Amino acid sequence: MPVTSSAPTPEDLDTLSLQLGRPVRDVVEIPARCRCGSPLVAATAPRLSNGIPFPTTFYLTHPTITAAVSRLEAAGVMAEMTRRLAEDPELAAAHRAAHENYLVERERIRQRAGIDPVPEIESISAGGYPERVKCLHVLAGHALAVGPGITPLGDETLERISQDWNPQMCTCGTAWDHEAEVPTKDLSRHVRRLKNSDSKESQ
Ligand SMILES: [Zn+2]
Repeated sequence: MPVTSSAPTPEDLDTLSLQLGRPVRDVVEIPARCRCGSPLVAATAPRLSNGIPFPTTFYLTHPTITAAVSRLEAAGVMAEMTRRLAEDPELAAAHRAAHENYLVERERIRQRAGIDPVPEIESISAGGYPERVKCLHVLAGHALAVGPGITPLGDETLERISQDWNPQMCTCGTAWDHEAEVPTKDLSRHVRRLKNSDSKESQ
């Protein structure tokens, strides 16, 4: 199933920074959006512009979802899922296939970002893939980014938080502070703002 992914607009980048409470960078696309259009997940280049390899290609940013997933983690779901992987060969095979999909998606993001291969993280994905479950945020972000049917434990994570968040729901109005100053340390953006304040339309 093709997933509609779009390059981030300046507004998206501001929203991501507000959602996370820190400046974002090296975001290549927005692979999943709320029904209202706000980003749910950021796809980040596999090497940051400061040179550091970044394996978490799909980063869950929406505070309602991250909080709900954190509650699942606190309830011991990662250990439970890892146990099931050891007991269920079919599930284990699907989890390994999801790992391969993660690497394929990262390669697509790398090419879209126009950067060189990142040998440091070659064949390493994230979240405990391919053998374990170490981070449900990674699995949920992956599931949202690529759609259902690719990562069974990611799909299950979303299903298990569906009381708190599901695709029919929009909690964006209260999930983060829309009036806060956008966190940014990026000089280019700072310069842009200074230029904007010189214009007649200073806010
Ligand atoms: Zn929304």
